[in-house]
Amino acid sequence: MSKIAIIGAGISGLTTGRLLQANAANQVVIYEKQAQAGGLCQCRRIDGSLFHLCGGHVFNSKRQDVLDWFWQHFDRESEFTLARRNSVISMQDGQLVPYPIEDHVYCLGKEVLEQFMRELDLIEQSQSGGQEPENFEQFLRMRFTDTLYRLYFEPYNKKIWRTDLSRVPLSWLEGKLPMPTPEQMRQSNLNHTEEQSFVHSSFYYERQDGSQFLVNRLAQGLDIRYDSPVEQISVHGSQVSVNGENYDKIVYCGNIKDLIGAVHNIPIHDSLRRGVEQLRFHGTTTAFCHLDRNPYSWIYQPSPDHPSHRIICTGNFSETNNAPGTMTGTVEFTDYISEKDIRCALERMSFNPRYITHHFSPCTYPIQDAGTRQLISTLRELLAPHGIYFTGRFADWEYYNMDVAMGAAMDLYHRFSI
Ligand SMILES: Cc1cc2nc3c(=O)[nH]c(=O)nc-3n(C[C@H](O)[C@H](O)[C@H](O)COP(=O)(O)OP(=O)(O)OC[C@H]3O[C@@H](n4cnc5c(N)ncnc54)[C@H](O)[C@@H]3O)c2cc1C
Repeated sequence: MSKIAIIGAGISGLTTGRLLQANAANQVVIYEKQAQAGGLCQCRRIDGSLFHLCGGHVFNSKRQDVLDWFWQHFDRESEFTLARRNSVISMQDGQLVPYPIEDHVYCLGKEVLEQFMRELDLIEQSQSGGQEPENFEQFLRMRFTDTLYRLYFEPYNKKIWRTDLSRVPLSWLEGKLPMPTPEQMRQSNLNHTEEQSFVHSSFYYERQDGSQFLVNRLAQGLDIRYDSPVEQISVHGSQVSVNGENYDKIVYCGNIKDLIGAVHNIPIHDSLRRGVEQLRFHGTTTAFCHLDRNPYSWIYQPSPDHPSHRIICTGNFSETNNAPGTMTGTVEFTDYISEKDIRCALERMSFNPRYITHHFSPCTYPIQDAGTRQLISTLRELLAPHGIYFTGRFADWEYYNMDVAMGAAMDLYHRFSI
């Protein structure tokens, strides 16, 4: 038998747990510091309506192995619905422009459209000259034009990330953004057609209980110790001790900053330690609200006049998310915001959000800079020989969606033959 501890019962820990437990030679124990599994995907019913404590999670994947693994655990037909994304951008003047904006510039008026078309010509010329973007800001400008950068991409992304977009490396965004060519954007705006390939342009959603349903199913049959924060990890020969209990290996799925603090008797170079301590991140305050009925999935709010950046109309994902006669959704704010300020912000927003409750998650958006991946990889190489592995959004410090977190757990499982 191989005795393995997993720390964290979020999507990454649950995926790793299921993969490992499929092998009868493994004995798997999961430590979870909270009273419930799910991490960022947790949901709670409030007066009969479903509150996604952090956002509003929907599922899809571009990885076939992830989809295959996922659908082994669920019945697609009876337990999920397949929906098409119907999102809008609420512009500064209150106009609603369909998402993605680059396909709907014609909605912004003749002048903006003409300027956009001229800039697309310039982009094409610079692409044929071999010019490549080096960071997120350059990517947005060189892919979508300066006009759209100014009107949407810059104010929206600055609200979420609160960081200099020119310091964000491109590698971070792989697979997360649409990559239309100038010609595709021209055609979309001339013929009023839409690009269908962007992430979550269609998605699966649970008929009951949102992402908590997914979490509860993945947690079934696993030995999870709730209310069990792991604060001490030490190595004794070929064994790793977790809170005083010995294991052959551990897979850590919490926050890498805490791992560095918890690991004893493995020398970690000061520069590595400092690098991890300096990793930046943001939290999210999610306000659960009653909303006016509308047909949308996500409503983006780039305007600096509103402190929140988007409304997720979770009540539209499944009617079971709403108590009878109501329509609910979540309004997202980066970092902490008080109830008083939330209520004040809601008063000025479209779709008339009426406050029910709110939740603050301190760690939701990891921010990478050019050295982050190397830092994480060095740490991985240092710890793996001692039987300490890690995976997850805040362990890898990556902007993972649930499916990508599942894929990363699968990759770890195969790469290290844990
Ligand atoms: C606002 C928002 C919206 C999102 N929307 C979507 C979406 O629509 N679709 C999608 O696919 N993805 C979405 N995501 C991404 C998704 O939430 C993550 O990919 C996923 O939840 C990451 O899971 P994880 O297990 O890596 O981390 P987490 O969910 O953070 O789980 C970590 C777990 O470890 C536990 N833990 C940490 N430290 C310790 C310790 N020392 N001891 C014991 N336990 C510990 C924590 O309590 C937690 O349960 C969204 C994320 C955000 C922030």
